[in-house]
Amino acid sequence: EFGAVADQLGMQAYLVGGFVRDLLLRQQNLDVDIVVEGDGIAFAEAFAKTTTCRVRTHEKFGTAVIVFPDGFKIDIASARLEYYDKPAALPQVEHASIRHDLYRRDFTINTLTISLNPDHFGQMLDFFGGQRDLKDKAIRVLHNLSFIEDPTRLFRAVRFEQRLGFKIGKQTERLMRSAVQLRSVKQISGLRILHELKQILDESRVVAALGRLDQFDLLTFIDAKLHFDQSTASLFVAAERASSWFDLLYTGEAYRRWLLYLFCLFDNLSNKGAAKVSRWLGMSPADHTLVLEQLPKAKMLLKRLRHRSSKLPHPQNSEIYFWFDGLAIEIILYLMACSDQENLRRWLSLYTTELRKEKIILNGDDLITLGFKPGRSFQEIFIALLKARLNQEIQTRDDEIGFVKA
Ligand code: ATP
Repeated sequence: EFGAVADQLGMQAYLVGGFVRDLLLRQQNLDVDIVVEGDGIAFAEAFAKTTTCRVRTHEKFGTAVIVFPDGFKIDIASARLEYYDKPAALPQVEHASIRHDLYRRDFTINTLTISLNPDHFGQMLDFFGGQRDLKDKAIRVLHNLSFIEDPTRLFRAVRFEQRLGFKIGKQTERLMRSAVQLRSVKQISGLRILHELKQILDESRVVAALGRLDQFDLLTFIDAKLHFDQSTASLFVAAERASSWFDLLYTGEAYRRWLLYLFCLFDNLSNKGAAKVSRWLGMSPADHTLVLEQLPKAKMLLKRLRHRSSKLPHPQNSEIYFWFDGLAIEIILYLMACSDQENLRRWLSLYTTELRKEKIILNGDDLITLGFKPGRSFQEIFIALLKARLNQEIQTRDDEIGFVKA
């Protein structure tokens, strides 16, 4: 249908990018990108008339997103050469705009294209040797200035290499090293680095990817003290274990894996150092607060509890609850990863699986009915009730009433 619409408008439409790459690798990819030679927005709007979907447009970039009723999305971009308005039949100008568009892309494996117009539907266009590199399992740039033009590609090269189990090509590796030596990364904003870093930290082969970033000296651009050494690697492995443990609890609760790993990556920074990096990366205010407040709190707690755990008697449930109360789930998982003592892990596990869900039944109105005067004392009553409940001294509503009366 896309091809038919393109034909009607006298345009050529192509499937491009990661979707085509992953199609050839037989890997699932739900990010469908289409590039049209012509006005992508007009194309998206014409397509929308043929079926039930919505279109969001970004006039400034000449891009559109087609959103289907089930939420499935397709990105549409425009490939346009300023000096090239009408499709011409001459071989040298045929595909000129799509080729030009693809030339700006990062790696050869991301430049493969499939025609959608009915006449040559399904035909693959491979201008830069993408198929060869897929076969060779090689990450290669299209030209020598690629990393200088856009240093985020240094991070992307590592991400694709590890994700696909490929190898960065020799010449590409040389170009990476020289871009690092020229300190090109310094020209990109912290926010763009965060965007790339997040994606790397969300990959399943995160340990190998971080090791590779370190080999290329890319972490030092984030902070001179940032290294991925043996102890950070072990912490990452422990974080992996903590996150699988949490996944298996099936709480349905969302957490950000990348954030957990970022906390681990910050492990050899001081509190001040971590706060500085977080600010520079342009983390969201809420996440910045986690770095600024919760991470130092977690580290202090860890010190205290390590000391504590060797001592008897065992803490009461209510004590455990208030150690961890209010900490974000990513911080709890970070603590779990850092826990080198059985006791500490048991307390964190008890808190996560049971204690934090504990709720009291009585509310303010109930207390008034029971003859209490509203005020500060309510808070104290609620805390006392929660403690008693955590320590399994009370269970039912009647237990709670008996408890407050006493
Ligand atoms: P993923 O599965 O991670 O989404 P992807 O290949 O779709 O993989 P994206 O980061 O979504 O990767 O990028 C989409 C496409 O845009 C890529 O195929 C790539 O060719 C191109 N692209 C993205 N970022 C850059 C960049 N910095 N330089 C050049 N091309 C880029």
